[in-house]
Amino acid sequence: MTEQTPVLEIRDLHKSYGDLDVIKGVSITAHRGDVVSLIGSSGSGKSTLLRCCNLLEDSQNGEILFQGEPISWAGSGPNRRPGDAKQVIRVRTNLSMVFQQFNLWQHMTILQNVMEAPITVLGRDKGEVEEKARHYLNQVGIGDKGNMYPAQLSGGQQQRAAIARALCMEPEALLFDEPTSALDPELEQEVIKVIKDLAKEGRTMIIVTHDMDMAADVSTQVVFLHQGLVEEQGSPDQVFANTQSERLKGFLKSTR
Ligand code: ADP
Ligand code: MG
Repeated sequence: MTEQTPVLEIRDLHKSYGDLDVIKGVSITAHRGDVVSLIGSSGSGKSTLLRCCNLLEDSQNGEILFQGEPISWAGSGPNRRPGDAKQVIRVRTNLSMVFQQFNLWQHMTILQNVMEAPITVLGRDKGEVEEKARHYLNQVGIGDKGNMYPAQLSGGQQQRAAIARALCMEPEALLFDEPTSALDPELEQEVIKVIKDLAKEGRTMIIVTHDMDMAADVSTQVVFLHQGLVEEQGSPDQVFANTQSERLKGFLKSTR
C-alpha cells in the first residue's frame, strides 16, 4: 500500500436481491481525506452500497478494495459468510458506520456505548479507551452526557453519541447513512456541524444524504445514483452548479 492507494475503491459492483438488481455496475474511489456524498432518490441503492462496503451485504460481481485489498465473502449456500473473522473486524473497525436510527444500546450509558466495541472487539485497555471516549464525546459537544442513557438524550445528541462511538474505533473512514434523516430540522444542524468539523479535520467519509446544502459544503466528490447506476458524478460545483443529466436536474428540483 502506498500513499496513493485509495482508502476505499468500489469497482464495477453488482448486487441483487433475488431477481431484483439493485446495484448494476457502480465504481467509486475514495482517497484519504476525500468526502464522497452519495445522493439519489429513495430506492436507488445508496444504503445497499454502503452495506456492501461494510460486509453487511454480499454482492455478485465486481470488487470492493479496502486499502488496496479486496474484501470478500467466503463459502457458498447457507454457509456463505462475510469472510474470516479477522477481515470482518478489520473492515468494520476501519470503515465505521453511522446509521440513520443511531443504533445505540439502550441499556448502556452513552460512555459505555462509546467504549463497548474498542474494548470487546479490539481488546483495548479500558483506561485508555475511556480517555479516548471522553475526548470524542467532548469533540461532538456532549462531554457532559456520558452517564446518561440514550433515551434521556435528544435525537441530535444521540446521533452525536453514535458519531463519537464510530470515532472511538479510530477508523480510516466513516460511513454515514442518512445521519440527519431521523432528526427534527432544528436538531439536524447540530449533527451537520459535527460532520463539517470532521471534514475540516481531513477525515475520509462516505455520506449518504438528502441534505444538498451539506453535500455542497463538505464534499470533494458528489455521486448521484439512479436505479443502481452512477448517473452523474463530480465536484460539488460540477454536480450542483453545472448539472448535466436531466434526471439529476429533476432530482435536485424535488429536494428544494
Ligand atoms: P436507498 O438507500 O437508496 O433508498 P436501498 O439500498 O435501501 O436504497 O434499496 C435499493 C433497492 O433494494 C430498493 O428497491 C429496496 O427495496 C431493495 N432492498 C433493499 N434491501 C433489501 C433486502 N434486504 N431485500 C430485498 N430488497 C431489498
Ligand atoms: Mg437508504
